[in-house]
Amino acid sequence: MDEKDLGADLSKVLIPEDDLQAKVRELAAQIDADYAGKDLLLVGVLKGAVMIMADLARALHTPASMDWMAVSSYGSGTKSSGVVRILKDLDTDILDRHVLIVEDIIDSGLTLSWLISNLRSRGPASLEICALLRKPEAVRTEIDCRYLGFDIPNEFVVGYGLDYAEKYRNLPFVGTLAPHVYGGTGS
Ligand code: 5GP
Ligand code: MG
Ligand code: MG
Repeated sequence: MDEKDLGADLSKVLIPEDDLQAKVRELAAQIDADYAGKDLLLVGVLKGAVMIMADLARALHTPASMDWMAVSSYGSGTKSSGVVRILKDLDTDILDRHVLIVEDIIDSGLTLSWLISNLRSRGPASLEICALLRKPEAVRTEIDCRYLGFDIPNEFVVGYGLDYAEKYRNLPFVGTLAPHVYGGTGS
């Protein structure tokens, strides 16, 4: 789907493809500066982080390994509860490794808080976070996100990895859903 041809499902483009790509290059430059000479392990959180992970990894000059985790966060509807289950664990032992968690979005921050304490208990040399998007709720958490793409309004967004019922992940931009798609009052 093209930015100019949103179709009926999306109400607007929040972050155009060019802005996403420019931001990813910016983040990669910061990460390159901070991890020069270090053995970097990128840990992508499936499935939402697939796009940022793929673009970020290619924008880095620092050699980096890549691994993935899949977690499910139980909650009602669109809110997570902080009760997290590992669906797919890392293949890598992260003891003494420099680990950078790559996430799509921080909302309540509950999923990431859990992930941080889980990974910290495995004894990495360092543990930092790179998140593409952050919602206002996140300011109420203690999460220290060293590399952040964009602060966004409290709207449900899709695209560039983010889904609604497993759809829209392959949009090259981030957009907001039209209310009629998720049962809002828009239609
Ligand atoms: P948290 O535990 O921070 O509340 O939830 C984070 C997870 O909820 C994200 O990794 C993402 O999977 C999902 N999420 C939160 N906000 C949005 C949103 O606006 N759109 C989509 N597609 N997923 C979201
Ligand atoms: Mg995620
Ligand atoms: Mg999702």
